[in-house]
Amino acid sequence: MFNTWIVQRSSLLEFDNKLPYLVLAYYHITKLEQPELLVKAHKAFFKDKDFKGRIYLAKDGINGTLSAPKELVCEYMQWLWSQPGFDNAEFKIQEFEDHTFGKLTVKTRPELVALGFEVPLDEKAIGAHLSPKEWREMYETEENKVVLDVRNDYEWELGHFEGSESPPCKTFKDFDDYSKELKARVNPETKVLMCCTGGIRCEFFSSLLKQQGFEHVFQLQGGIIKYGAEEKSKHWKGKLFVFDDRLSIPISDEKTEVIGKCHHCNKEAERYYNCANMDCNELFLCCEDCLKAFHGCCQDSCQKGTRVRPYKLACTPFRKWYTYAKSKEELNTLRAT
Ligand SMILES: [Zn+2]
Ligand SMILES: [Zn+2]
Repeated sequence: MFNTWIVQRSSLLEFDNKLPYLVLAYYHITKLEQPELLVKAHKAFFKDKDFKGRIYLAKDGINGTLSAPKELVCEYMQWLWSQPGFDNAEFKIQEFEDHTFGKLTVKTRPELVALGFEVPLDEKAIGAHLSPKEWREMYETEENKVVLDVRNDYEWELGHFEGSESPPCKTFKDFDDYSKELKARVNPETKVLMCCTGGIRCEFFSSLLKQQGFEHVFQLQGGIIKYGAEEKSKHWKGKLFVFDDRLSIPISDEKTEVIGKCHHCNKEAERYYNCANMDCNELFLCCEDCLKAFHGCCQDSCQKGTRVRPYKLACTPFRKWYTYAKSKEELNTLRAT
């Protein structure tokens, strides 16, 4: 059974979770004059508490993922809702057997999503938010549409909505070029349906499209995570990439076909690994056989590197080398076994 709970301030904080940890994903766009003050407040709140995860604060809001026992997760949400500007923040919650991060990081960033600009706070300047149900209905009934998945290409390769495009979204420049090409390709009445993991990237990319003159831009509110919670896996194939130790999750308890392919042999694969060669570190999909055959490396030449992590331990994303061994010599011995 795979559960996702969508929680707002008015929600009852009752979870029938079977596993001891809850994983919290959230973002909230709000004007923060001094994000560093909220970093301080977070650090004070987290002191001596069993939280792990990654939280970024910027002038345009917050973006975070946390793992903690249930009581602490509830305490944190209540605390954040009580901060000025955050009373209507929405959280997506899943359960897991352990922490999903190795440590806790809270820090400021120049922008929430590193694209070189802040999210406009004017509702008209961004795509209209559709609930998962509204988004699905438009997806099903609209003939003149393009579905844009604004996550990274490696996320799209593991799972996506049927018929969606994966535009280049690494930099502002890439996406800008793409949106010009799209403008030339489709007519002005075309509806653009956007989606991403939790919704935050759509806030940015939809405003870029609006600037390009696209009129009918719609974003999936709460992202693919919320869609899975409310609409299950309708029109979705494969798994959802997540930026924590779980690496990939189903979006609901409905079965879907595997679409990920092993980087080496092209057989079905749904697990990502960073190349064991630390100087390469490439993220790639790999089946278990090839993981063994290539010692956790993305290519033959990576196995000959001078800093290669032991692949046997690659059940979670790689940590810094000193997590595995006290010295570089010991690391090499581990590798040889
Ligand atoms: Zn393979
Ligand atoms: Zn490599």
